[in-house]
Amino acid sequence: MIAMNLTCPVCQAETEPRLQERKGAFTLYLCPLCEVVFAHPLSNPGSSWYEEDVETRVRLLVASARKPEEMLREPHRRFLRDRPAAGGALLDVGCAEGGFLAVAQRHYRVAGLDFNPQAIALARERFGLEHAYVMTLEDFHQARAEMGFAAGFDVITAFDVLEHVDAPRPFLALVRELLAPGGWLAINEPNRDRRPNLREPWDYPPHHLTRWNKRSLANFLEGNGFSVAKMEEFTDGGYLAIDWMDRLPPVRALKRALAAGTPANGNGHRRASLPSLLGRARLPVARVLDWPLLTALKAVKAPGQMLYCLARRRESGG
Ligand SMILES: [Zn+2]
Repeated sequence: MIAMNLTCPVCQAETEPRLQERKGAFTLYLCPLCEVVFAHPLSNPGSSWYEEDVETRVRLLVASARKPEEMLREPHRRFLRDRPAAGGALLDVGCAEGGFLAVAQRHYRVAGLDFNPQAIALARERFGLEHAYVMTLEDFHQARAEMGFAAGFDVITAFDVLEHVDAPRPFLALVRELLAPGGWLAINEPNRDRRPNLREPWDYPPHHLTRWNKRSLANFLEGNGFSVAKMEEFTDGGYLAIDWMDRLPPVRALKRALAAGTPANGNGHRRASLPSLLGRARLPVARVLDWPLLTALKAVKAPGQMLYCLARRRESGG
């Protein structure tokens, strides 16, 4: 094989990355220095790809009829138990329909960003979140002073966001600048060391562009002006069973039929497989099915499916 050098999008080192997998137009590489796995080319499919997503549309429909507590997932619950800098200002990046913010506003002054206008409309109308905006992090960063957020946030949360970002370092730099000195960052990601690793369709580009484990996530944060305060692995009950269900021939056929009707967007991306169709509607049943498996995985100390991390903006030493 011809040796090839690439610039790692996370640690910026010129490296000879290790080939992991090929998937369609994308190749997945492992950076030997910072241990992140990244897609090449590293291109985000754009907001329309997500807006047209069936699961997103189903989630918005379901959200309009649910209490915010019912919309919390495990990383949200972990954060709400930790509750750093309670009473302060919190920004949720990728806030979707605002279920988490609706609960978090009992403890914080909250603001949220998302690029899906329907989700933000729901956040404002249903949960009265007046500081929920259809904006990118870059645009918000530019406009923060005139929007009344010049003082910076005490906490920034970004749940299931980093793996979709096509420029992780600039993203983290903006987050750091938006935080007040000593501010907290809470994030969660799929754990690429998870066992079992079912190579779920949603974990491939263009949906997920980077893959993280405890080490690569800690390297990334510590190398960009943060101190890691907490790094945990966990598995949300139900999601393993849903991944198995998605492998059943009738479900696969249904997904193929739906994907075939989805036009490619401006970037030429066509959704090859829809991530967990009706996933949430199946969750109660899936949780029951998962229980024996999760108990067994816990007994052998298998690495969890997800990472949850709490980090603090560092004021000295870079
Ligand atoms: Zn790297």
